[in-house]
Amino acid sequence: MIDLHTHTNCSDGTDSPAQLVNKAINEGFSLIALTDHDTTSGWEPAKVALRANLSLALGAEISCLTTDGISVHMLGLLFDGAHTEMQIMLENTRDGRIPRALKIIELLNAGGFKISMDDVESVKPEGATLGRPHIADALVKNGVVSSRDEAFAELLHNNSPYYVSHLAPTPEDAISMIRKAGGVAVIAHPFASLRGNVLSVADFMPLKKAGLNGIEVNHRDHNNDERIALAKIADELDLVITGASDYHGTGKLNSLGENLTSQAQWERLESEADQRRVITA
Ligand code: AMP
Ligand code: ZN
Ligand code: FE
Ligand code: FE
Repeated sequence: MIDLHTHTNCSDGTDSPAQLVNKAINEGFSLIALTDHDTTSGWEPAKVALRANLSLALGAEISCLTTDGISVHMLGLLFDGAHTEMQIMLENTRDGRIPRALKIIELLNAGGFKISMDDVESVKPEGATLGRPHIADALVKNGVVSSRDEAFAELLHNNSPYYVSHLAPTPEDAISMIRKAGGVAVIAHPFASLRGNVLSVADFMPLKKAGLNGIEVNHRDHNNDERIALAKIADELDLVITGASDYHGTGKLNSLGENLTSQAQWERLESEADQRRVITA
């Protein structure tokens, strides 16, 4: 079983990297990819915890914004974690999340919802990439809503009056950087329309030209028609098809392995990295 998209408490998941690795071993996975938002800080603790037959593809889910302001998530896998420019890009995005959270908090306060940056800091694990799920957790703590899910449904979704985007690279820039750092780029949940505006079919060709390797087709935020449409695009552009859970621990309903990537698709994806970077125990 191969699951190419997971989060830990290094971003907005709730398991530590070691807990995630142990869970994957206990549940019989052959390979998981670690893809925290805009950070590689979980790589080392995940490697340390690795044992048995599990393999690790280290990566990150890079937040991107198109020039039209559409939010896109790009999975970078198997890149060199010591690549300086890549680390600077990730750091800039993490830094941009702080003023963005402050703006969201200001809008929420103006709307009559009680929350402060201190509240958010108190629920966020130290060092984790700051995201809306932490704002959600602070709203739960303050009794404004009862769950992360309710916070997103009522206040934090992309079309909300309280939504603010943050500084982020374009999808093309993120793809180029991932490839320059030796890795492979897979666009995450591209047709997840519940999250807001999404790319159109014509937008995939420029991404392919920028070096895109694959499309995350099988994801819980895609219905059957969306999966069929994406598989067709992947076929036409000769891109790898992946499936993944986007596991966030108890932070989201997604269960590890609820969507999977086939061994054949994985082998092709892995062969497109500049060297063998899969970690084994
Ligand atoms: P951000 O990166 O700060 O824009 O926040 C986006 C993150 O919020 C993504 O990782 C999503 O997985 C997460 N998210 C979106 N909707 C929900 C939800 N209903 N419950 C929990 N997390 C969510
Ligand atoms: Zn997340
Ligand atoms: Fe995502
Ligand atoms: Fe994700």
